[in-house]
Amino acid sequence: MDKAAFYKLSYGLYIVSSIKDDKCNGQICNTAFQVTSEPPTIAVGINKQNLTHEYIQASRKFAVSIISKSTPMQFIGTFGFKCGRDINKFENVKFRLGETGVPIVLDNAIAYIEVEVANEMDCGSHTIFVGQVRDCGILNAAEEPMTYAYYHEVKRGKSPKNAPTYQAPDNVEREGRYTCSVCGYVYDPEKGDPDSGVKPGTKFTNLPADWMCPICGADKSKFEKGG
Ligand code: FE
Repeated sequence: MDKAAFYKLSYGLYIVSSIKDDKCNGQICNTAFQVTSEPPTIAVGINKQNLTHEYIQASRKFAVSIISKSTPMQFIGTFGFKCGRDINKFENVKFRLGETGVPIVLDNAIAYIEVEVANEMDCGSHTIFVGQVRDCGILNAAEEPMTYAYYHEVKRGKSPKNAPTYQAPDNVEREGRYTCSVCGYVYDPEKGDPDSGVKPGTKFTNLPADWMCPICGADKSKFEKGG
């Protein structure tokens, strides 16, 4: 069995959000898909350990925000690599409550779909929630949707260097940069990490032992030379 075949499946990248007791949460999800057109039916696959899973099971509703190709990594990091049990992901994010009362993320979104859960299927580590669309609409007609392949190949800079389309970030590989192997964030000593109190000019090796990736929260050991 060659699991490389799985990489040939194509996906998009979405934020799936829900609500429980007036608390909002959302997460990055690449498994959202239309099941039928009449009635309009959408399904998502959500990991059982995620807080969003708990919220969807409680409220029986969710929203899918389709994010644009130009979505910054930091935004994806907040929804994809951080846990709603530790932070309020909606604190600095533009959103509105939809017709069913579910939060719809508007930042970086080009369209949204609001769904009421009709059924769920236990798939071991994940649950597939299926439901009827209650509302949907376009938020930004000018931008293209992010695909999972674009996210991996372009946003994370994981294109192999011998690929004809490869472009190094800024077209310059500067000395002293380190890349997070979890999310692709590049630590640049020239910039430092001012949000975490690290001044510009700080070498990666001089970062405090408890410093973490500002996007995904990985520790220093997850970083590799280069970027
Ligand atoms: Fe990271």
